[in-house]
Amino acid sequence: MPIIIIKEEETMFEEHAKCNICKKEYTSTHVEVSPGTIVYVCQSCLDMAKTNFIWLCMGCGKAYIRPKQLVINRLKDPELKKAYMLCEDMVIVQGIDVCIECDPETISAYMGSLHTAVEC
Ligand SMILES: [Zn+2]
Ligand SMILES: [Zn+2]
Repeated sequence: MPIIIIKEEETMFEEHAKCNICKKEYTSTHVEVSPGTIVYVCQSCLDMAKTNFIWLCMGCGKAYIRPKQLVINRLKDPELKKAYMLCEDMVIVQGIDVCIECDPETISAYMGSLHTAVEC
């Protein structure tokens, strides 16, 4: 599961494509998740990512957005909680290989601890 931290200097690109998170805005801000896999994030989604964690499914492209405070408050694991609290002020889009939408059969086993963090 790659963790993508969007930095300011990565916003200077010429190509424009539809935002992978909201699928509405066109943006030039993008990051390379893995070789050949580009994720575009528009300005309004970047602003939203300051107060929300964003999970993006690499399988079907569905984005899951959860308020950071809610996610942190619900975590039981102290180590995991600490890790997420360190991310509280960062802009993070986390890529996941499959989600409940595109692979409901294997997702419960795959997501494991993440599942409790993602579910509201
Ligand atoms: Zn967007
Ligand atoms: Zn999916």
